Amino acid sequence: MAAATDLKRAPMLQTLPGDDLRQVLWRFTDRYDLAMLVQAARTVARGPVARLVAHGARNSHEWTPEKASLLPAFDESGLTAAFLDPQHGGFIEGPKNLALALIAFELSWVDAGAATSSLAGNLGLSPIHERGTPEQRDHYLPLAAPPKAGESRQQVRAAFALTEPIPFVGVETGMLGGKVRVVEWNEGQEPVLQVEKRGRFITNMGFANVVTAAVESDDPRLKGTCMIILEEGDPGTWDRGAPTRKLVHQLSSTRDPVLNVRLPANRIIGGYTVKDGLIIPRYTHGEIIEAVFRRTRVTVGLMTSAKLLSAIEPVIMYARRRFRGGEGAPGTPRYELGLQQKQDVLHRLVDVWATGEASASLGFAAARLFDELDPLERRKDQIFAGRNLAGRAAFKALAATQPEALELLKLSAQPAESRDQKRLETLKANPLVQFALLDSQANVLCPACKLWNTGHGANMMREAVSLMGGYGVTEDCPGFLGQKWMDAQLEATYEGPEAVQRLQLSLTMTNELFLAQYRQWVAELARIASRRPGTGACTLATAMTLWLWTLNHLQTAADADGARLYHKSRQSVTFPLADALCWLLAARQFILDLLELEGKGPVNPALADGLPGFVNFFTDLCHVQSARAAGEVGRICAELVHGYNRHPAWDEASCNACYSAEELESLEGIIPGIEGSARACADVTEANEAHPLKAGPCVKFTGLEAFVRLRARLDGCLTGARLAKDRAAEALTKVMIPEALDYPA
Ligand SMILES: Cc1cc2nc3c(=O)[nH]c(=O)nc-3n(C[C@H](O)[C@H](O)[C@H](O)COP(=O)(O)OP(=O)(O)OC[C@H]3O[C@@H](n4cnc5c(N)ncnc54)[C@H](O)[C@@H]3O)c2cc1C
Repeated sequence: MAAATDLKRAPMLQTLPGDDLRQVLWRFTDRYDLAMLVQAARTVARGPVARLVAHGARNSHEWTPEKASLLPAFDESGLTAAFLDPQHGGFIEGPKNLALALIAFELSWVDAGAATSSLAGNLGLSPIHERGTPEQRDHYLPLAAPPKAGESRQQVRAAFALTEPIPFVGVETGMLGGKVRVVEWNEGQEPVLQVEKRGRFITNMGFANVVTAAVESDDPRLKGTCMIILEEGDPGTWDRGAPTRKLVHQLSSTRDPVLNVRLPANRIIGGYTVKDGLIIPRYTHGEIIEAVFRRTRVTVGLMTSAKLLSAIEPVIMYARRRFRGGEGAPGTPRYELGLQQKQDVLHRLVDVWATGEASASLGFAAARLFDELDPLERRKDQIFAGRNLAGRAAFKALAATQPEALELLKLSAQPAESRDQKRLETLKANPLVQFALLDSQANVLCPACKLWNTGHGANMMREAVSLMGGYGVTEDCPGFLGQKWMDAQLEATYEGPEAVQRLQLSLTMTNELFLAQYRQWVAELARIASRRPGTGACTLATAMTLWLWTLNHLQTAADADGARLYHKSRQSVTFPLADALCWLLAARQFILDLLELEGKGPVNPALADGLPGFVNFFTDLCHVQSARAAGEVGRICAELVHGYNRHPAWDEASCNACYSAEELESLEGIIPGIEGSARACADVTEANEAHPLKAGPCVKFTGLEAFVRLRARLDGCLTGARLAKDRAAEALTKVMIPEALDYPA
């Protein structure tokens, strides 16, 4: 009781989070270059982009000169060059995943179509950046940098063409309709190829002069599939095709191009070798797409996070001002709080905010992870190249490091004084071991953030829209929330819709190396819970344990007909389990970010005043989010664990096993209390009934006792979560809102 009273008096949230706080939370306080990049992106977002949105440019799918004026704005502010390495005209050294994530976040806060316009160029170049030959990289990447003053050359604007008209490539990227043939091959010379590619929904296609396209060989002299670089000047057809009549991301250009051009074989991305008269591309289109999407999908996930967080201010303002000008003078609750007098309005906004924070935490953690992984990946490639290992052999060599990576995890969990410290240091210093560890995390975090941030994020955008009443579904809605809601659906769809992410998770989340780290995370959460009980870390640790129990159970269990449950054809089992994991990962990362804020925030004097209020508010949001995650996980796991067992039916034996009500009544005189206790633990048949009026005898949990116990414990772990939500809701009635608008009036 004392603790609750203390919390009621605790410092409250004063303002919405600003840049200083975000830098601590998302760990870039020491990156001045990134702080500047955020400012540059914001200047474009809240300047030219916001003006276009406010003037209704979103109401048409046509690519207009006004929309095209965004491209030079991206160039001039440094957003275009941010993707490039310094030797190619960029200005950020090293990996750029976090940098690009921050740009996407800032632009999407105002309009995700504009963000897509900026990022699709990077996507078009990414196959060259990730898997191009040195010559391809040195040729195309510098051309993508904006020309310097006095330099007269055409800038490369790229598009990425994978998706094709139905019935070819969509989610299933293997069904390629795009073809490549050898049309000329003179002894000792570069073969000449004919590439035919029809695209569907290709971003940037209104102006792109370079397209990286996925194609399949239609010639016995060329093996398999590849990605290839098409240029606008290549002889043949460069038909940009019809604009897509899309309802979303209207500040980007999307068309269905028809491309049919002749080009040299050295445009095959990554190069090729010739063996026995056969051209063998170094990489299949699948290998390149994998390398590209695993990075760019994180950025897409953050677009929806930005939308959710951008909704907080307009929703609060709408609610507070709802009744002004009517009854109720300034100073009255009706005037000052408006709809915020109603609890439901506040609680729903707390949910939107908590989701936005958790998804941003997850997305930025994934971006930072790829920044760590990138140099290790290059090191791994160098090591394998030095050992002449490629393809399958490289894959096998990497798999061979798995036991060492597991050993490292085991050693690092042991007390320092009793473990083999020398062995630990050796393993830690092995880049292959480090790569294996981080790679197993990245293989989960990337699809998890793409899936959960965008899919669940789109659902929560609907909640935000609903809080604006009728205004929410008009073109004038403050914050353009209705459009953002629809935009979120595209983010859930492109670069592989939810099914693709779930499929990937169903494979990567069972990797023993990931699961070993997951177990350590559960133990870490338990330690956090004992130190910081209000965060919901305990609830989350129990929910994570329940998820792991369920995964282990499903991997060996069968359904009522004896068919295996955890199987790639059984998406109804693997997909929900993947969804459940995402809830856990997002809530966990949010708690870790809160601890970072609590630990490092005091160092920044700019944060000093408001920090305790932020920490208290975020603690409550973490608790709310952990409880919600636990609820989802409990529901999903219970359905999967129990749902594939057949419910017992009323047969002769089970009917006979029931007590009859009359029998119990007569026994009551001899054994007092038997009537009540029998009804509590067995089935009882009333007079004139063949069996009790229900589906069958109650289910027994033989073999599932541990699950039932854990699930009951999880329910108990929700204790206090609603008190946290009440406090967070109250904070929303007090927080000060800035006068500066995201869009011009
Ligand atoms: C505005 C916009 C811009 C785009 N930009 C680009 C671009 O620049 N470059 C590019 O190449 N593409 C682009 N795309 C295409 C986008 O990536 C595809 O639309 C997306 O991958 C889905 O493919 P599809 O539309 O053919 O859906 P489908 O493949 O027809 O899928 C329909 C539904 O079936 C489900 N489904 C399909 N297969 C499976 C399966 N195996 N298991 C379970 N469920 C399944 C899907 O999840 C989905 O719910 C863009 C799309 C849009 C709308």
